[in-house]
Amino acid sequence: MTTLPLPTYADVEAAAERIAGYANRTPVHTSRTLNDRLGAEVFFKCENFQRMGAFKFRGAFNALSKFTPAQRQGGVVAFSSGNHAQGIALSARLLGMPATIVMPADAPALKIAATKGYGANVVIYDRYTEDREAIGRDLAEKHGMTLIPPYDHPDVMAGQGTTARELFEEVGTLDALFAPLGGGGLLSGTALATRALAPQCELYGVEPEAGNDGQQSFRSGSIVHIDTPKTIADGAQTQHLGQHTFPIIQRDVTDILTATDAQLVDAMRFFAERMKMIVEPTGALGLAAALQQADALKGKRVGIVISGGNVDIAWFCELMKR
Ligand SMILES: *Cc1c(COP(=O)(O)O)cnc(C)c1O
Repeated sequence: MTTLPLPTYADVEAAAERIAGYANRTPVHTSRTLNDRLGAEVFFKCENFQRMGAFKFRGAFNALSKFTPAQRQGGVVAFSSGNHAQGIALSARLLGMPATIVMPADAPALKIAATKGYGANVVIYDRYTEDREAIGRDLAEKHGMTLIPPYDHPDVMAGQGTTARELFEEVGTLDALFAPLGGGGLLSGTALATRALAPQCELYGVEPEAGNDGQQSFRSGSIVHIDTPKTIADGAQTQHLGQHTFPIIQRDVTDILTATDAQLVDAMRFFAERMKMIVEPTGALGLAAALQQADALKGKRVGIVISGGNVDIAWFCELMKR
């Protein structure tokens, strides 16, 4: 795969202009219970209230908005465990182009149904035995579609960066910011916005403990590949960071932290009980990590990105019984 020029904060600003009027400007919520518990002031950027239920709409819409007329005609192909699929499918429909989505057979039923509901053609594969990137590339070549990967693309990264840009616009500077980490589209975009708007802010990426390839990569200085991790955080089951996301993460992020599935369930329960919000397991990574950092966060202004809220309700209820 060829390497494209890395995005800068100017690309995040351009993305903000492209998505204006299409993406929701999501709310920032707070919890006095949590503030009291941490002795800190915490601001949640609620992308669970984004269109299609996750921040992925931002990057997808930004990328598709930049297609040439010829690319629009051929349409877009994407491979995704779920939210990127929905982001691409919805963006394609809004922009009037065809979309084909390659999805794993074990993706949440809700996500597959929603993707089809947006009018996309869905191709199913087995995530433990087949290579989704090869399938996607094959479809692109055969049918003249343009492949938009879920994270490793400058336009996707720049679009995701608009989340943190809005947060800083709304609450001003912060001492620390936590964002979920899968392949690093969200975290690298967040890093661009953070270094431009709150240069002193500590920035933490948070990934599932069972799949800490990002932490290993960050600390070793080169991209570490792992097997598909078994975790309830299905939005962060990536096997490696991207060649575009990694350099920005390495340059601009403070550290990568992890959370166990049990900690994610605790955080989801907090969101449901205390804040009346349904947050998907991956979306709870930021809070799960912040709760472990209570001592370090005392007296600080802290941002936490809730990245999404797409979870099967039956599965959500099962998790809440744990
Ligand atoms: C995709 C996704 C992530 C991870 O984003 P990356 O850009 O791959 O790091 C986190 N949370 C949710 C809800 C997602 O859909």
